[in-house]
Amino acid sequence: MELAISGAMRSLAHCSRFGAFAHPTREVYYVFQQSNRPPASQPPQKLYEGKAKILYTTDDPLVLLSHFKDDATAFNAQKRGRIEGKGTINCRISAALFELLEANGVPTHFIDCPEAGQMRVRAVAIVPIEVVVRNIAAGSLCRQTGIPAGTVIPDPLVEYYYKNDDLGDPLLTRDRLFLMNLATPQQLDRMHSLALQINRVLQEFFTRCNITLVDFKLEFGCDRRDGSLLLADEISPDTCRLWDSDRADPQARILDKDRFRHDLGNIEAAYEQVQARVLAQFAGPPSDGNGTN
Ligand code: C5P
Repeated sequence: MELAISGAMRSLAHCSRFGAFAHPTREVYYVFQQSNRPPASQPPQKLYEGKAKILYTTDDPLVLLSHFKDDATAFNAQKRGRIEGKGTINCRISAALFELLEANGVPTHFIDCPEAGQMRVRAVAIVPIEVVVRNIAAGSLCRQTGIPAGTVIPDPLVEYYYKNDDLGDPLLTRDRLFLMNLATPQQLDRMHSLALQINRVLQEFFTRCNITLVDFKLEFGCDRRDGSLLLADEISPDTCRLWDSDRADPQARILDKDRFRHDLGNIEAAYEQVQARVLAQFAGPPSDGNGTN
């Protein structure tokens, strides 16, 4: 597959200078729907604070501003901490990957990055389903099935989890999901095919970065303008398992939030490594001397 990276390069130069992204939730959207458009002179209102991002209004009711935080949580927020610089890094990486995906035909909520760690996004109603794609067995798949960690999954696995912290984000079946009215069959089919398309684009992209894309989580939302599905939330080392393809050691190769989950240390360095390799793919002639900003 020939990735359309070049189309994303122009605005990525801008994104890599600033970096950012946003994260609305279903609840946030309803709060947002009930509020009137603030006058231009009004400061942004905080709509919602999640574990990794804060969402603000803008002067445009169709646009929200997402601020990425350095706070880190794991195991349904039972473990909490901070990863210095994470917000800015995740914002930059997400912006780059959203640009890449848009250039390859995936509609996303990404608009731009007005400042480091901030992303303007389209207002969406988040579908309360976490879509997980797996290329290699790890994490909960191994715990729940006994499949050995590291087993290559020949046909990528697409799974659905109920986005509900109180219930611990349980695994869903199609029938349960429809019973709960979480999505229509058309929406589910669309999310499934987009998830596989996103996997193809990201797998090829990360291969170029010498990174193995083990698995990742996606969230989708309905565009407030026309109800169409947009890829939302973020794509970053917080939401993906990423292994350094140059390293065989099962701990040393980890470049993602598993370093935080399992107290492996060197977390910031791992996130910086992913950022550097991702942005290097888009780097034209360096504009500021170091090629990464
Ligand atoms: O924990 P599990 O193995 O199911 O996670 C699969 C993938 O989804 C991992 O990349 C993990 O980082 C991501 N994930 C996430 N947010 C969650 C649950 C999983 O980003 N709430």
